Amino acid sequence: MNRNEGAASELLEFASYRAIRYLTEISNRAVEPSTEAVERLSALEGPLPEEPSDPAEVIRVLDEIGSPATMATAGPRFFGFVVGGAMPVTVAANWLAAAWDQNAPVSLLSPIGTVCERIALGWLIDLLGLPRGTWGGLVTGATAANFTGLAAARQAILQGQGWDVAAKGIFGAPAPRVVVGEEAHVSVLLALRTLGFGHEGLIRVPADGQGRMRLDALPDLDSKTIVCIQAGNVNSGAFDPAQEICRRAHEAGAWVHVDGAFGLWAATTPERNHLTAGMAEADSWSLDAHKWLNVPYDCGIALCREPKFLAAAMSLDPAAYIDEYTGDQEPHDFTLEMSRRARGLEVWAALRTLGRSGLAELIERTCRHAQVFSRRLADAGFEILNDVVLNQVLVSFGADDQTRRVIARVQEEGTCWVSGTKWHGRQAMRISISSWATTSRDVDRSIEAILRVAG
Ligand SMILES: *Cc1c(COP(=O)(O)O)cnc(C)c1O
Repeated sequence: MNRNEGAASELLEFASYRAIRYLTEISNRAVEPSTEAVERLSALEGPLPEEPSDPAEVIRVLDEIGSPATMATAGPRFFGFVVGGAMPVTVAANWLAAAWDQNAPVSLLSPIGTVCERIALGWLIDLLGLPRGTWGGLVTGATAANFTGLAAARQAILQGQGWDVAAKGIFGAPAPRVVVGEEAHVSVLLALRTLGFGHEGLIRVPADGQGRMRLDALPDLDSKTIVCIQAGNVNSGAFDPAQEICRRAHEAGAWVHVDGAFGLWAATTPERNHLTAGMAEADSWSLDAHKWLNVPYDCGIALCREPKFLAAAMSLDPAAYIDEYTGDQEPHDFTLEMSRRARGLEVWAALRTLGRSGLAELIERTCRHAQVFSRRLADAGFEILNDVVLNQVLVSFGADDQTRRVIARVQEEGTCWVSGTKWHGRQAMRISISSWATTSRDVDRSIEAILRVAG
């Protein structure tokens, strides 16, 4: 080992020692960083140094200033937004991947990266019960996956009108109709906007009390229509009625895209897969691995029933006609990025470690935790605003101001972290249980903290 190698090993051991210490202590610290810790971040500022610094010193400063200023989303009691943790095996795979520094658009550049992605996608398609021939790619998250799936939708629907977007562009194209639920996630609206479908042109379908698209309000569909449905409302966890929507859409020749960021994982557990009934009938799907599969950020999954439309929209070479996925194509044929992280390593490691039953158990366990939150808070006299069918619980503590105060105090108190949201015009506390790390004891401690603060 020469001196440089010795120094590099020492640096990596130093960093891994500090990272491991962070993770072993995470359960004992406040979930939210203190104001002082956030203020201390100013120590990282200052002019760009003129001279090089000692790398170990840089890492030491980063850890000493940075670690206390993290939100402890990797810990067991973060219930804000819909944020998973990262299972230890996926962090370990991520460390290997970072050391390997693989660039995975093509197998020539990273055999391991592309093979893991191919295997992981195959396993996912099987787990989700999606049709044979479905394919896709790993992307940065569900926002990118929605964009990717909807780009395929645009390609297919316009191709049906005799217009090849890949060749002719969108200007002058016959305008597709785009149907979204009133409760569509903002990322779907953003994806549509970037694809040329601005807010004002969308057909919005009213939602029922749980945020599901109302079938009686669904417009007539035709072969010029893209319908965006969701598996897992970001607030209530509710599912759009996919079976009937897909039936009507396909009779009419319309395309159905599913935003399944977290909810689609319900398809992997026998106790919950009734919720996703019909979702497999859709044409494209988006899903997050960094939420409920608990791999490190960032990792989403875009899937398409007929990958040829995805390839027409996303391949570096749109002239390379791809009829179906044969195993020979490359990740860059189905995703936007050229240079890209080898995300397949972590997804492969997660699925290989959990297996079918372990994944079902993870999904089911977190849903059971949600039931406990819901029952105990209801027993204490607080109003649960949603049917708790998944991992999401919406709670009101009375008037909007009171609920806002309870949320702020819970965040400040530090035992756990929950976010606020608006639900049917009312302020709500949203509790999302998406982390592998949450135990029953963590749920009890968190409920006690919430009740203490609310009392
Ligand atoms: C989180 C989420 C998204 C966006 O996913 P990102 O991974 O943050 O890009 C889209 N839709 C739903 C329903 C979500 O919960």
